[in-house]
Amino acid sequence: MQTNLSPEFRGTQQGATAEAILRKCVHCGFCLATCPTYQLLGNELDGPRGRIYLIKQVLEGATVTRSTQQHLDRCLTCRSCETTCPSGVDYGHLIDIGRQVIDERVARPTREKFVRWLLKVGLTSSFFGPAIKLGALLRPMLPKTLQNKVPLPSDIESGSWPTRIHARKVLLLAGCVQPSIRPNINAATARVLDAAGIQSLVAGKAGCCGAIRVHLNDRPGGLNDMRRNIDAWWPTIESNAIDAIIMNASGCGVMVKDYGAALAADASYAKKAARVSALTMDLSELLPDLVSALRTRVIASSQQLMAFHSPCTLQHGQRLLGGVERHLQSLGFKVEVTLSENHQCCGSAGTYSVLEPKIAYQLRDRKLAEIGRLKPRCIISANIGCIQHLQSGTSIPVKHWIEILDQAIV
Ligand code: SF4
Ligand code: SF4
Repeated sequence: MQTNLSPEFRGTQQGATAEAILRKCVHCGFCLATCPTYQLLGNELDGPRGRIYLIKQVLEGATVTRSTQQHLDRCLTCRSCETTCPSGVDYGHLIDIGRQVIDERVARPTREKFVRWLLKVGLTSSFFGPAIKLGALLRPMLPKTLQNKVPLPSDIESGSWPTRIHARKVLLLAGCVQPSIRPNINAATARVLDAAGIQSLVAGKAGCCGAIRVHLNDRPGGLNDMRRNIDAWWPTIESNAIDAIIMNASGCGVMVKDYGAALAADASYAKKAARVSALTMDLSELLPDLVSALRTRVIASSQQLMAFHSPCTLQHGQRLLGGVERHLQSLGFKVEVTLSENHQCCGSAGTYSVLEPKIAYQLRDRKLAEIGRLKPRCIISANIGCIQHLQSGTSIPVKHWIEILDQAIV
């Protein structure tokens, strides 16, 4: 695609990055076939090719409108289009630039600004944990829409954290919402790694990976989250005490793997950020080690079918496809994925389910209907956002796969 950036963007880092991405797009439209919002809404401007065109127009100096902003808001950032694109268009980075540029030019309605502020501050604040505990207790009295967002009291029990010391150590990011909503995911991760002879270290000062602020168009705030995490991890990394930084939420993993690119222009953090990204692994990337260490200690039920929902941040963002299912199957678990919907977003997409609930719930119900055809006893996934969102629409238990492995170790 030919581009002719306006003087405002010509010669800037942002303009150069966007231009390089735009020029790769050949407008073939293959990506439309796998874009959830295009499939639901049927509007070219609610698909990747249309959004790419809108961003190009903005960077070329066209007038930006509220409607342009909304077409970009409706994008789930699921990056399914990237997986499909034969030209390798880096849509994820382009939409980040487009959203940032548009938000600087189009004011949002007051209510929308307030909701976005509340999400940004609330989800990452130290009050979030106590508020969730209170919400879980009062859950039966809450309106249905809020009940969907609050865990059951049984969900906020975590079991014990291992205390053994092992020579092999990894850093584990606890995350921001996960320790409050499903603390058992982190505890189960630490227990399974402990059983495999790996010690999990959690740096107390590390918190939100930055994805919440970046996706709510507060890039400076997101970059500060990244710098804080790097500072929290750096002494451990520098002492060569660990061989990986492990993410058990694929939404955080895709962000931390991008720290190197996000902070490339920051002279004080660029090298450290690149090292952090190089050390970062999704928990499932440890599965080959876990399988060989635990094979004789896992008693898997081959009768109870589990449906695996692969998060977009795992399969499209990190391009990790099939590993969880394959390795769990090799341990004797019965795991299947849906044939027609496996590549599709469940509608969670970070804060999307709050900001665009209509589309988010349509996608959730479509995904659950497909999963329902498998008649699973349990749904498993690899990202806290997907787990909570899917659970809000079904009575089938939805868990992280590590919790299943944790329960099966004897
Ligand atoms: S598939 Fe790739 S090259 Fe084709 S229109 Fe979509 S983004 Fe552009
Ligand atoms: S990121 Fe997802 S929703 Fe957005 S354009 Fe690509 S496929 Fe469509």
